Amino acid sequence: MAEQNTLMDAVNRFTRRPLTADEVYLFDLILCDNEIDRDGDCFSDAALTELAKRFTGVTGIFDHDARSGNQAARIFRTEVCTDPVRTTRTGKPVRFLRANAYMVRTDGNADLIREIDAGIKKEVSISCAVGRQTCSICGANRLKQNCGHCKGKTYAGTVCYTTLDDITDVYEWSFVAVPAQRGAGVTKKMGGAADGEKAAMRRELLEMSVLLDDLTDDLRRDVVRLCGQQGDSACAKALARTAMHLDIRELRALRDSLSAERRASGAQLMPQNSTEPSGAENGSFRTRS
Ligand SMILES: [Zn+2]
Repeated sequence: MAEQNTLMDAVNRFTRRPLTADEVYLFDLILCDNEIDRDGDCFSDAALTELAKRFTGVTGIFDHDARSGNQAARIFRTEVCTDPVRTTRTGKPVRFLRANAYMVRTDGNADLIREIDAGIKKEVSISCAVGRQTCSICGANRLKQNCGHCKGKTYAGTVCYTTLDDITDVYEWSFVAVPAQRGAGVTKKMGGAADGEKAAMRRELLEMSVLLDDLTDDLRRDVVRLCGQQGDSACAKALARTAMHLDIRELRALRDSLSAERRASGAQLMPQNSTEPSGAENGSFRTRS
């Protein structure tokens, strides 16, 4: 229980209003590690530490049907971990960047949550800007000069790879579904200023979609509350249940007409404390506490 409170405190540092444990879905992901990847690159220890700092609070997206705005999750905590058993191809202990992320549970992401639970979504892709790419053979910064060594080739018994260092920005992270045969892993993308701008725009769009979800949620609560004030009739309850499936425009129209109706029949108002819909009798209600 104490641990759950700490977790929710960490989540609520990033939310517009405090969320309860029931309202969110929490999951872990490995963002990257210090192993040499498919491209012959690996992150330095310093890079992992910097990525851990910079990815905290960053919103990510699922490589999924993105028609609804409910496919975004946010990283609320990161940690660089050392694997006690495994070593990298160069003989160093494997270190990896673990992230804790949350998603606000909605009708729209129930399927996605089932897929994460089932392990279908397992490949993570990150993009970031790197200031230094060091050749393992000669120590040159490949961003500044082409030293001529080829990644993956062996020179006098030493394999050539590039160490990524000096993280200057992180753009985004995403969770992608991979066919079961392919191993889980991390892909990364590094780019110049143009990529950075594109990614920044995408990040802004994501932030907006999260905000829109929040506002829709608020509107839905308003509608449910107004339905509750219509009294205890089956009709009002059915209307409140319907609110769970309406989009923001429909919700706004419904709220406006319910408010107008309420103003028109102001005399018939019930006392405030008996008008809130009760969560206990209907699982789909969430009341403001
Ligand atoms: Zn070199």
